[in-house]
Amino acid sequence: MTEEHTHEVLEETPRTDEPRVGVYICDCGVNIAATVDTEAVTEYASKLPHVVIAKNYKYMCSDPGQNLIKDDIKEHNLNRIVVASCTPRMHEPTFRAAVIEAGLNPCLFEMANIREHCSWIHKETDSATEKAKKIVELSVARAPLLEPLSAAEVGVTREALVVGGGIAGVQAARDIADRGYPVHLVERELFLGGRTIWLSKIFPLRKCEEDCVGDCAPCFITPELKSAVNHPNIHVHLNSEVFELDGYVGNFEVKIRENPLFVDRRLCTLCGECTKVCPVSVPDDNDYGMRERKAIYRPSEAAIPATYVLDGKNCGYFTGGQCSGNPLCVGACKFGAINLGTKEETVEAEVGAIVVATGSDNYDPSEKRELMHDNPRVMSAPEFERISSHLGPTSGEILVNGGKPERVAFISCVGSREEGGNTYCSRVCCMYTAKEAHTVRKKLPDAKIAVYYTDVRTFGKGHDEFYVRVSNEDVEYRQRDLDHRLEVAENGRSVVVKCEGHDDFEADLVVLATGMIPRSDAVDVMRLFNISRSSDGFYLEAHPKLRPIDTFTDGVFLAGCCQFPKDITDTMFQASGAAARACGILSSPKLTLNEAVAFADETCTGCGQCVETCQFGAIALEEKDGELVAVVNDVLCKACGTCIAACPSGSMQQKHYTDKQILAMIEAMGGSSL
Ligand SMILES: Cc1cc2nc3c(=O)[nH]c(=O)nc-3n(C[C@H](O)[C@H](O)[C@H](O)COP(=O)(O)OP(=O)(O)OC[C@H]3O[C@@H](n4cnc5c(N)ncnc54)[C@H](O)[C@@H]3O)c2cc1C
Repeated sequence: MTEEHTHEVLEETPRTDEPRVGVYICDCGVNIAATVDTEAVTEYASKLPHVVIAKNYKYMCSDPGQNLIKDDIKEHNLNRIVVASCTPRMHEPTFRAAVIEAGLNPCLFEMANIREHCSWIHKETDSATEKAKKIVELSVARAPLLEPLSAAEVGVTREALVVGGGIAGVQAARDIADRGYPVHLVERELFLGGRTIWLSKIFPLRKCEEDCVGDCAPCFITPELKSAVNHPNIHVHLNSEVFELDGYVGNFEVKIRENPLFVDRRLCTLCGECTKVCPVSVPDDNDYGMRERKAIYRPSEAAIPATYVLDGKNCGYFTGGQCSGNPLCVGACKFGAINLGTKEETVEAEVGAIVVATGSDNYDPSEKRELMHDNPRVMSAPEFERISSHLGPTSGEILVNGGKPERVAFISCVGSREEGGNTYCSRVCCMYTAKEAHTVRKKLPDAKIAVYYTDVRTFGKGHDEFYVRVSNEDVEYRQRDLDHRLEVAENGRSVVVKCEGHDDFEADLVVLATGMIPRSDAVDVMRLFNISRSSDGFYLEAHPKLRPIDTFTDGVFLAGCCQFPKDITDTMFQASGAAARACGILSSPKLTLNEAVAFADETCTGCGQCVETCQFGAIALEEKDGELVAVVNDVLCKACGTCIAACPSGSMQQKHYTDKQILAMIEAMGGSSL
């Protein structure tokens, strides 16, 4: 952890006794000017108290617009600037930079939003103009009370944490590590790769020979995973979870629980002698119980690191079973790779930036009784991926009840795009359905194949071409309306798909294109990393267009399907983006923090309510002149305002949003300042 917490006051503002306010009204092309009479607003503003000059311009954020402000500050000795334009989220940094260049402290700048709050939501010019005048008036009323503030600067710990070792986490970790920064990659499972290592083939399919059924998932995912495991800058924590997080951007402190691995992968030669003697057999979850595995086993040839792993929950040594006194696997391993005495450990790490890449869960189709997922002839798409994989339980042979299906139906949008359910589109199902239908066509050339779809959404590069190709491979696409009832019914030794508007389709195999859903522990992870979720339950980005990788917690970024369903291509884009954002922090010599933090004024009675409510541990009671008073740590304060609401004496305030400043706006609004 770096110790530098310095304060640097920005260049002193030329203070005069009188506030001298400059007001700048933006047309935003036609965005504002088409609805608001900006000239009338400018004229109105020019007559408000303390206003020295008011101007309007078509694009205030442009270079000429900014120069207008900078020149006026110097020429008219302005000491407060109000810009009325778009949301501060868009251009506050632009204007702050402009006033700094002209020698003003950025906290003497105030922004009024007459676009999102006015022109975009009103049609009537007269009323919109009146409202815009009022919005500007409020900002002008606050401006004289603004004070120059200085922001704390902190040093940066040049290491990163990546949570989740799926393809998103692996890509982010590698990108960060390649730039020379050490990375802690924390994966809950005993191996890396997430969902991708359980897939059979992967779209988009590269141009390939006519009989090729696409890119083999393990063939090209495994080398990616290996390069992370072997990377000198990546510390992979398997079977591990982050359980505590403290600190702030540039200086997080994390605690990682490393559950015991029992098998030392550096000593394991993959000989498999341990598995042969293991007396325990349990259904393999990764194959959806379609085959059994031992308690010590190799999860998959695609799983990296390549090693046998021991499942402590089912191992007889721990459960009091046959091996309790004499673990057979330990005796069978000639290389001494198994140590059942390994204990859980806590690793403490300090990192400057965090990438959350915890992926998603599969929608459980058994919720839809009408689709009969409990029938052996009906399986979910992830299950189909396993039976069509050469590493799966049937070695890639498509078998149902031991026989090759002659008629296969795919049903799309299961658990997606439903009123009252998951309303979002899972974005990968149309493509993976086309891929899986193509696989059936290649492996069972005479099979009758039907795809029940609602819309076909194949927007990615090469995706639509692939869909067209599959639909020309004697795969019948049957459109259904989302409102139309679709059900699967038993039909003697087969099943039948019944869909309004179509003939019944008798099938030996039905594949349900199930969507992605947020992880079952998404709320716990959200709380741990102090991030948010959108209404669909996936993690929320700071802005869907402008900051799609950031969260509201500085220094914590998102990658992959934990934010929203994505295919591997989009996941890779975002993971590299998250890595780049993280490296932006790691490479900064210092970080400037928010100056609008809380503070206790002289009326504080030291009751300690604020200390209890602050979830960031930013407030402590300290003795001053023999009395206890609340003192805020500027570096830890997140400016959330909770302490201010909790303070019974009203002495807790927020810099830049003091009661006086807010009440001045209320008064200007015509309200009471009680
Ligand atoms: C049936 C199906 C077929 C698909 N086929 C294709 C295809 O052909 N082509 C394609 O481009 N895309 C396909 N996809 C999409 C693809 O699977 C995803 O794009 C990809 O898996 C996203 O990777 P991820 O790393 O975000 O998530 P995941 O693969 O889910 O990985 C997340 C990882 O995080 C770990 N984790 C979770 N929580 C924690 C925690 N708290 N702490 C530590 N670790 C944690 C998990 O164990 C997991 O390893 C398919 C999806 C499905 C459902």
